[in-house]
Amino acid sequence: MSLYSLTLYEASEKLRKREVSSQELTEAVFQRIAATDGIVRSYITLCRDTAIAQAKDADQRLRHGSSASPLMGIPVALKDNLLTRGLKTTCGSRILDNFIPPNDATAVANIRSAGAVIIGKTNLDEFAMGSSAENSAFFATRNPWDLERVPGGSSGGSAAAVAADQCIAALGTDTGGSIRQPAAFCGIVGLKPTYGRVSRYGVIAFASSMDQVGPMTKDVRDCALLLEAISGHDPADSTSVNCSVPSYSKSLTGDIAGLRLGIPKEYFTAGLQPAVDEAIRNAIRQLEKSGAVIEEISLPHTEYAVSVYYIVATAEASSNLARYDGIRYGHRVAGKDLTETYMLSRAEGFGPEVKRRIILGTYALSAGYYDAYYLKAQKVRALIHGDFDAAFKHCDAIITPTSPSTGFKISEKIQDPLEMYLSDICTISINLAGLPAISIPCGFDGQGLPIGMQIIGKHFDETTILRVAYAHEQQTDWHRKKPDLRPA
Ligand code: GLN
Repeated sequence: MSLYSLTLYEASEKLRKREVSSQELTEAVFQRIAATDGIVRSYITLCRDTAIAQAKDADQRLRHGSSASPLMGIPVALKDNLLTRGLKTTCGSRILDNFIPPNDATAVANIRSAGAVIIGKTNLDEFAMGSSAENSAFFATRNPWDLERVPGGSSGGSAAAVAADQCIAALGTDTGGSIRQPAAFCGIVGLKPTYGRVSRYGVIAFASSMDQVGPMTKDVRDCALLLEAISGHDPADSTSVNCSVPSYSKSLTGDIAGLRLGIPKEYFTAGLQPAVDEAIRNAIRQLEKSGAVIEEISLPHTEYAVSVYYIVATAEASSNLARYDGIRYGHRVAGKDLTETYMLSRAEGFGPEVKRRIILGTYALSAGYYDAYYLKAQKVRALIHGDFDAAFKHCDAIITPTSPSTGFKISEKIQDPLEMYLSDICTISINLAGLPAISIPCGFDGQGLPIGMQIIGKHFDETTILRVAYAHEQQTDWHRKKPDLRPA
């Protein structure tokens, strides 16, 4: 097997036993990128020289046996909305196309100090707004399983990079589904942690009450290992919670006997592709055979989730994005006075979807409409949260599809924003309620496209969803399938 195909856990074992060096592993990953990224286009920026230097450093630490972390020497890709010290961070936007951050995001600093090798920054929808990676200001990323299709979004670059073996693991961010939906479309594992589990410091803000950083990996064990490395309290983020981080990887026993799993009927409706419906139902039957107790439940306010999200998220975005004015940093177009400089910089710097959301959000927060839209949305958000609280009184986890469909065709939805918004229907409620959820591969449709199953947990109970995910993975080999990607 090629080195770049290894999982994080496998690679880490080989590094520890000195069967391979981090430098060899990193070189292999860069060769894979050179051979495949011309067609997949996962990366906006690569940093080969600093990566090789980090790999050499990791090799030295491994030689001295001073490595406690499984991340030591592992090549990792980062979504380009995570700040990286000295390395261009664009957020998929022209307005930041020349921005070199002075510091690392805390999640990045955490994996760096664990010895991870940062290999580059991956493509995304501009400001993480989108479900297909087509809203990037630079180019569209392609789905490694079918190059005519989208990889999902907004963390489409990270998902494609993991699926195409262009990195060993990656980080993404998820505000309404941006880790889980691309993970599902690309046949990999993606986890959105509980709101507050991972620091948002240095994550370019989109909708601050929902944004979270999370792992995107080749299997569930890797997901647990990477989550352990990025989780924990950070005094620099007042919403990060000061509670201990369990050893997620140690809880992966494969035993789920007696766990109560809820199946919400609202997620199994007419809009679901038949192949997705069938794959999820098969997976549920398998979990039942392993001893889980399956129970139908109801989350009655699900139908309002997309509307609520697109009011709350755009309102928060309109405030967060006010900082991009062409003055302090980022893209500037000089006008005849200050106002014109603001206007020209933003007109040129922001793409159409970002402008649409700033306008929508500003409207929802405006004096005359605040009560009717923003306040109402917050009230319904509380009801959605309440649905989950009620369900978790008698369930340990909830199972749904991650997305109603498999990866759609490039250009299929980009002209119709509402159609695009609906592709988040299964993931959005989870962010509104601040819950953790994971997407894992659970089958393929008739065209050979991957299908994802979502497992939702109680607040700060990532352990249970990882346990259920691992039990499923132990009984199947969906996660071992690779796209037939012929190097260009
Ligand atoms: N697709 C959703 C949106 O466009 C979610 C994005 C995200 O999670 N960052 O807002």
